[in-house]
Amino acid sequence: MTTNTIRVAVNGYGVIGKRVADAVTAQPDMTLIGVADLATDWRTKTAAVNGIPMFAATGQAAGPMRDAGIPLAGDLDDLLGQVDAVVDATPKNIGAANLDRYRTAGVKAVLQGGESHTATGHSFVAQANYTSALGRDATRVVSCNTTSIVRVIGALADAGLLAAARGVLIRRATDPWESHLGGIMNTIVPEPTIPSHQGPDAKTVLPDLDVVTIAAKAAHTQTHNHYWTLRLTRPATHDEIIAALAAAPRIAFIRMADGLVALNTTVELMKDLHRPRGDMWEVAVWEDVLTVEGDEAYLTYQVYNEAIVVPESIDAIRALTGTVEDPATSIARTDEALGMRRDFLSRSTD
Ligand code: NAD
Repeated sequence: MTTNTIRVAVNGYGVIGKRVADAVTAQPDMTLIGVADLATDWRTKTAAVNGIPMFAATGQAAGPMRDAGIPLAGDLDDLLGQVDAVVDATPKNIGAANLDRYRTAGVKAVLQGGESHTATGHSFVAQANYTSALGRDATRVVSCNTTSIVRVIGALADAGLLAAARGVLIRRATDPWESHLGGIMNTIVPEPTIPSHQGPDAKTVLPDLDVVTIAAKAAHTQTHNHYWTLRLTRPATHDEIIAALAAAPRIAFIRMADGLVALNTTVELMKDLHRPRGDMWEVAVWEDVLTVEGDEAYLTYQVYNEAIVVPESIDAIRALTGTVEDPATSIARTDEALGMRRDFLSRSTD
């Protein structure tokens, strides 16, 4: 272990936690000290096989984990005693309940989007409000859908082009690893209230955004798909909208003309690019579907829900620990370590 790196723990080694753990390992300025969980099956056994020190997240979990053959390096308190920051990726509401424990241990805490804004009083998307998280004891990385809204719609607001955004969100039914347990088939389930929670949630990061979202759950397991009608502050061109999006980080452009015509094609592309787990950390905006008519623009993009919050979680660690004060520096470091792209089919790494 290098002593001058940020020492990081991950609590909850599920869909988000295992990806954050690998992303921490990939950072030049971070060391993954260990992971806590309570599962006794293949998920935590995989972490042990991959050489990650495992800790029991609760007192009750230690015995069953040991009985299942999972080597334990200690419990959560032992882990917290060795780190500067923890990323809590436990299921909804557990992270908020853990917060006092993190504060008592003097460990900076990054919660995830299942928790409410009020849990930490600060919600985080690196490009929008990194600086206001500097030195805080905790923040919440907003959900996958909300992160994409802040990145894309926020980029147009930053460029002074956005008057109002109205979006329809088609969400995946469940995550692939647990799709044998539930999910919906051969139907679409509208969320019962308008606005759906994602629009108001985006305002926890960008309070001035004029945004309304309507959402529905669909019968597939990988990635969300958003459709936006945007009222602009003035008549603009296609190129101006693209330039505004290109000026923001973590947005990649894809094209129907390349055969990327549906969610499954992009998912396949990520695997062919040898991405870990086939992950796409960027929001993929369809460049050749984007349409601008006078002061209105229409666009659609794809959100890889299992991965999009991973780079934000990494930047949140740097912001809370105060080791990097400049947002652009942290974002660039994270993105380079992960191998993020602006165009997946160009040989340039930009
Ligand atoms: P998950 O169910 O895949 O993983 C949760 C992990 O936490 C599991 O390994 C589970 O065994 C473990 N766990 C359960 N109780 C625990 C406890 N008391 N202490 C420690 N570990 C415990 O969940 P997820 O999908 O990774 O979601 C985690 C958080 O990330 C939630 O806030 C969720 O809303 C948010 N999020 C999820 C997604 C997604 O696409 N799945 C996207 C963005 C944000």
